[in-house]
Amino acid sequence: MMRTTVAIIGAGPAGLLLARLLDVAGVDSVVLESRDRAYVERRQRAGILEQGTADALRAAGAGDRMDREGLPHTGIELRYDRRRHRVDFPSLTGGRSVLVYAQTEVCKDLIALRLRTGGPLLFGAEALAVEETGTQRPRVRYRHQGRERVIECAYVAGCDGFWGVSRKAVPPALSRTYERTYPFAWLGVLADVPPSHDELVYARHDRGFALLSQRSPTVSRLYLQVPEHTDAAEWSETDVWDELERRTETDDGWRLKRGPITAASVTPMRSYVHEPMRHGRLFLAGDAAHIVPPTGAKGLNLAVGDVVTLARALVAHHATGDPAGLDAYSATCLRRVWQAERFSYAMTAMLHRHPDATPFDDRLQLARLDRIATTRSAEADLAEAYTGLSVD
Ligand SMILES: Cc1cc2nc3c(=O)[nH]c(=O)nc-3n(C[C@H](O)[C@H](O)[C@H](O)COP(=O)(O)OP(=O)(O)OC[C@H]3O[C@@H](n4cnc5c(N)ncnc54)[C@H](O)[C@@H]3O)c2cc1C
Repeated sequence: MMRTTVAIIGAGPAGLLLARLLDVAGVDSVVLESRDRAYVERRQRAGILEQGTADALRAAGAGDRMDREGLPHTGIELRYDRRRHRVDFPSLTGGRSVLVYAQTEVCKDLIALRLRTGGPLLFGAEALAVEETGTQRPRVRYRHQGRERVIECAYVAGCDGFWGVSRKAVPPALSRTYERTYPFAWLGVLADVPPSHDELVYARHDRGFALLSQRSPTVSRLYLQVPEHTDAAEWSETDVWDELERRTETDDGWRLKRGPITAASVTPMRSYVHEPMRHGRLFLAGDAAHIVPPTGAKGLNLAVGDVVTLARALVAHHATGDPAGLDAYSATCLRRVWQAERFSYAMTAMLHRHPDATPFDDRLQLARLDRIATTRSAEADLAEAYTGLSVD
């Protein structure tokens, strides 16, 4: 049987950053990841880092490449009614901005650091169950290299995403879940073409939402609202470009740049919170505890916020026995989580077309967008939430 102080389940951004923060503090840990390294490093997901997230990565010694290659963005553009409105973050938030740096790159940087300087990170190691969470010595059962094994530890960090096993270790009688699903999804494509606009474009259109995002000066990331359960294969490259063009067209001659599409996938939309985020010595972090629809770009940032809070609490408890941080962990994170849920829901509702939408609903959406475009307090509210819910 293997022994460690913190057993971390999952090598997404939450598990990897937690492992790094513990390495830096001299607390030993083992990371179990069910997939292989190549899969984890290629999985296309988020790309917007709030300032607090970027600062947390820098403080963890994982910011060098991010600072060289990440693209600072000081605003976003809202498009509706063939018009555009730019939301300027620094002037509305006292100087804040965001960084465009893909989740794949964050994960690559953290994996490289861990393998070079940290404790064990086992790929192809699938956690099967978390046990004895109510005791001082919880255990994780897992399968690695065809054999079932056990890790005994002082704490378990459940960082295994929405479909992981950690959350199931909380007895149903103690769990409260809050959920909303949406009757639409995002078709996301990667394309080898420079971005058509230097900032992200969030477009509301009668045919549905579109988002023009980017991964680098030569790679665009683009999204279309599609009905839920859509198969990405139903969309030809031409269909994707034509539809993006329709939904983002303006009256001022702006043009969408087209290029070869290298990947396409469909992301379902969901809002979900599991309370509490702690059960005994098991701590849930990131998507294992909560999901937001991607419209607010909050999922990765919330995962980072959780593990910054958790690392501090674990290090303090391990060093001094002071339980205050661990006792406050769930409530501290949930305050931030619910603010992100509120913002992500509001952005989703303002920009997506519900299949049952009436002309009245359409007018309300346009009125909301107009309010942001013409009222500084409404615009500042969006800018503040977009650039950062404080990490701690
Ligand atoms: C398809 C998709 C697209 C997204 N797009 C965006 C976006 O555009 N913008 C945005 O802000 N957010 C987006 N998100 C959300 C964002 O990527 C997540 O919030 C973020 O990945 C959360 O990090 P995490 O570490 O908590 O979970 P994850 O990144 O899900 O990591 C969990 C890890 O645990 C591993 N695992 C699962 N079960 C086990 C097990 N039993 N044993 C061992 N390991 C296990 C998984 O393989 C995975 O590596 C997207 C999410 C998805 C799923």
